[in-house]
Amino acid sequence: MGVRVKPKIPTELLFEDIKVNRNNAPHYVLDGSEVDIWSEPYASFHSKSPVDYIRDKILECGKKGKDPFPDVIGKKREKELTKNALLSGSSILFKGKKGYGKTTFSKSIAKLLPDRVLAIKGCKIYDDPTHPSCFSCKEKIIEHNTVEITWIPRIWVRIPGDPMLTTRQLIGGISIQKIRDGYDLDHPEVFIPGRALKAHRGVGYYDELGAIPSSLQTLLHELFEEKQVTTTEGDIVPFRLDAVILAATNPANYRGTSPIKEPLLDRMEEIEIGPPETLEEEIEIGRRNMYLVKVKGLEPEIPDWHLRILAKIVRYARDKERRDIASKIDTEPSCRATIKLFDHIKSEAIRNGREIPLLSDYGDSYDIVKLALMGRIELVYGVKETKEEIIRRLVEIALNDICGEVYQKIPEDRFEEFYDGLRKIGDPLNGQSYLPIDQKIVSKSRMNKEVNSVIDRFLENKKYSDELYLSALEIVLESMARCMNTPERKYVERKEHGYVMSDLR
Ligand SMILES: [Zn+2]
Repeated sequence: MGVRVKPKIPTELLFEDIKVNRNNAPHYVLDGSEVDIWSEPYASFHSKSPVDYIRDKILECGKKGKDPFPDVIGKKREKELTKNALLSGSSILFKGKKGYGKTTFSKSIAKLLPDRVLAIKGCKIYDDPTHPSCFSCKEKIIEHNTVEITWIPRIWVRIPGDPMLTTRQLIGGISIQKIRDGYDLDHPEVFIPGRALKAHRGVGYYDELGAIPSSLQTLLHELFEEKQVTTTEGDIVPFRLDAVILAATNPANYRGTSPIKEPLLDRMEEIEIGPPETLEEEIEIGRRNMYLVKVKGLEPEIPDWHLRILAKIVRYARDKERRDIASKIDTEPSCRATIKLFDHIKSEAIRNGREIPLLSDYGDSYDIVKLALMGRIELVYGVKETKEEIIRRLVEIALNDICGEVYQKIPEDRFEEFYDGLRKIGDPLNGQSYLPIDQKIVSKSRMNKEVNSVIDRFLENKKYSDELYLSALEIVLESMARCMNTPERKYVERKEHGYVMSDLR
C-alpha cells in the first residue's frame, strides 16, 4: 500500500532547508546519462530563483535599450513601474477593468524566464535539483546517490479567483500527520500540490484576487510573505514556494468584485492598467489579437480607414469626458470589443467572397457591429434609448469623423475634374449617375485619368489589389456623401450598394 512502518529519515530533517552544491551533490542523470549540472550548457538552468532570472533579464534589456515587454503595446508608464517593482523582488497587483491587457502583461513577465529549466524528475512541483522543496525530493537528495533530472518548460500558472475555491485546490493536500505516521513521502495522500504551489519556479498569476474567499486570502498573505503556509491544524508546511507572484483585480465598485484584504494589499505593489492611450495603440492591439492573425498567422488585410472607424466606435463609447453618448454607457467596451469588431467585419467580407471589407459588411442597420458590441456594453439605468440605438449613433459618429478626414484628402484644385470623372464612370440613372460598388467600377475608374490619380494618391501610390482600390473608392464616395450635402442640395447619396451623383453645377 506504499505505507512504511518507519520513515527512513527523521521527519525533522525534512523540515530543513536543504541546498546542495558541487561538492556534496548526488550524481545527476539526465535522459539516461550522468551530467555535471555545474558545467555548460546546464549551469544557468538551476540554483536560480525566478525573481533573479527576471531581475537579470530586465537589467540586461536596460543595458541594450530593449523593451522587456514587447508583447504589451504602449503602456510606457506601466512598464517602467513594473520593471521597478520586479527589480525590488515585489509582488504586483494589476488593477484595471477587464480586457485591458492584465493577463497579457503577466504572460510577458513570465517570458523573461528561461524557456526551460532543470528539475528533479517526477516531482509534482518541478523542484530545483540543488534546492528541493517537497518532502519526496528532499528524501531523494539526502538518501540517494543518483537523482534523475529532466527539462521542464517555463511555468506560468493562472489561479482564477473563484469564491468556491478550496484550500485543497489552492494550496494542496499536505498532511504532516501522514508523514509522522510513516506514509511514503510521495504517497498521494501526503502531498498533492494546489495551484498556488504549481507556480513554484515560475509565475503565479492570481486572476481576480478579490474573488478568492477571505479565509484563503489569509493563507496567501502568509505564502506571499513567508513563502510558506501553515495548515489549519497549525502545522507549518515544510515547504518554500519560490515564485514570482502577480495578481489582477477589477477596480472597486465594479460589478462582480469583492475586496482584497488589507494585509494582502500591503504586500503587493499596485499598478493601474487602463485602456490604450492612443487610437494607434488600440488598432495595433486589435490587429495583433484578431483570430486570423493570432491563430492562423495571416495578415489582417483590413484597410486603415476601416480599422480607424471600428476602433473609434469603441473609443467613443469610453470617452465620458468628451462624448455625451458615452455618459449613457455604464459598462464600457474593452479592447476585446475592438478585436471582435475587426474579426466580425473581416469574417463578413470573407462570407461575401472578398478579402477586403466594404461598408456593406457592417451589416443592415450595422448588425455586424452590434454582434461585437451588444454583450460588451451596459447602459446606465434609466437611459431612454435602446442599446441598438446607442450603437447605431456610435457608428454614425465614427463614420462622420473618419469620412471628414478622408474628404480633406481630395485635392481641392482638382475637385471638379474628379467629380465629373466619377459621374462619367457611372451608369446614367434619371439624369443622375449611379456608381455601383463592385469590381466592374474598378476597371472603369482606373481608365479615367482624373479619378484614378486621386484614388491612387489616396492609396499613397502603394501596390494595391482591385479589392483595396474598390474599398478606397467607396470610402471617398461615402466621405462626399457625408460632407458635401446640405439640407437643400444632395450631391452624393448612398443607394443600395452604390452611390447616386447629381450634377455639381
Ligand atoms: Zn519535489
